[in-house]
Amino acid sequence: MKRKLFSVCAGMLFLGWVGHGLFFGRSRPFEGGVLLTWSLSFLVLGLLVGTGRLPAWASGGLAGLVSLGAVTAIVHATGGPTSPYFVTLVCTPLLVAMFTPDARAPTLGSLGVMLLAVALLYHLAERPVREGLPSLFIFGGIGGLGLYGGKTYRRLRESERHAQEDRLLALEQLAESERRRLRAETERAEMERRLLMGQLATGVAHEVNNPLAFVKSNLNYLEQQLTGGQQPSDIEELRELLDETRQGVLRIQRIVTDLRYFSRDGLSQEEWGAPGEAMQEARRQALGHMARLGDVALEVPDGLPRVRLGQSHLIQVLLNLLINAAEAVESSRPARPARIQLRASHTPSEIRVEVEDNGPGIPAEVLPRLFEPFFTTKAPGKGSGLGLTLCREYVARVGGSLTAENRPEGGARFVLTLTPAAAASPRS
Ligand code: ADP
Repeated sequence: MKRKLFSVCAGMLFLGWVGHGLFFGRSRPFEGGVLLTWSLSFLVLGLLVGTGRLPAWASGGLAGLVSLGAVTAIVHATGGPTSPYFVTLVCTPLLVAMFTPDARAPTLGSLGVMLLAVALLYHLAERPVREGLPSLFIFGGIGGLGLYGGKTYRRLRESERHAQEDRLLALEQLAESERRRLRAETERAEMERRLLMGQLATGVAHEVNNPLAFVKSNLNYLEQQLTGGQQPSDIEELRELLDETRQGVLRIQRIVTDLRYFSRDGLSQEEWGAPGEAMQEARRQALGHMARLGDVALEVPDGLPRVRLGQSHLIQVLLNLLINAAEAVESSRPARPARIQLRASHTPSEIRVEVEDNGPGIPAEVLPRLFEPFFTTKAPGKGSGLGLTLCREYVARVGGSLTAENRPEGGARFVLTLTPAAAASPRS
């Protein structure tokens, strides 16, 4: 029992004492004295529990003993077995069971003492104990119910504790598997990054070596021509040679620029991006490249969720698609003003961004090779063939996709799908 409960009981008993005084006056001082002593005993027990001198588990039994003593004294003073308060004796083990449900001993003890008190009261009233047997049986039975109730309560508490432990264990296992999943995801992303770096390194070496080889041989030839002291044999041939050399250098420069551009912020640590803002930013930057060409129409619905692709990568992907679209329209013959659409839509599980242009579309033989590293149809200074490869790589790494198709009404359409940041799951 806790200190507060003792204080409440002491208060109630004190009120009982006051009420008793008002009702009976000074005619029954013994009962009044018992009530006051009872109340004071509870106050002292409460103080002892509060200061830690009496353990809570022992206080219940003591409270039961004190109460039994008090009730027995009152019952004895008011007629023993015939007292109107006689039946209140049976309440004691029930109250003890109620207030100390965690332990069996206090209830059992108070039940035994209560039965002894019943026998004692018969004895003091000089009536044969045999007469009290029905009361003993009935009181014992009722007290037994208190014991049974306490047992049921403890069993329920125990099973609740087990359930709580199981819940905690399940939560811990869940957290552990989530930690493992995140670790595996990070490791896979790292492996994929290394793989891509390896592929790029091989590709770059090959793509840069080619132009380097002919730039070098052209320069050697030019040097021979100049140091030979002869007049260049064919000025036209030399011009072609210079042009070819320039193209080679431009191609190398473009590859290096594209690689630097895409790895500007390395492997972005940003976990998510806001597609609406990214679309506006990519449009703003693209207009800088294609001011002469026309406009980019933007369609962004309200409430577009965040996606699991970092903001700077998202902008880079969209910008790359917009610049490709602009360059495709620019290459159209006859020339036409660009009409480029940048449109987003979403479902609970997917965000879709489309880039449409009114260019010449993608030739059937180009379509299957579009995402190959270093595949380009552009002039050496204009394209490296890395843009779409890297875009698709960034998107695929976070479980999204990037596809291309020709529009029936002419022009190309690139479709980017991404998962919302909250629902994103690793790519299988
Ligand atoms: P790059 O732009 O450096 O050539 P990309 O990987 O971005 O490299 O593009 C590869 C090729 O895909 C381009 O050379 C072009 O042939 C084709 N392509 C890309 N976008 C479009 C488009 N909107 N319309 C037609 N062809 C396109």
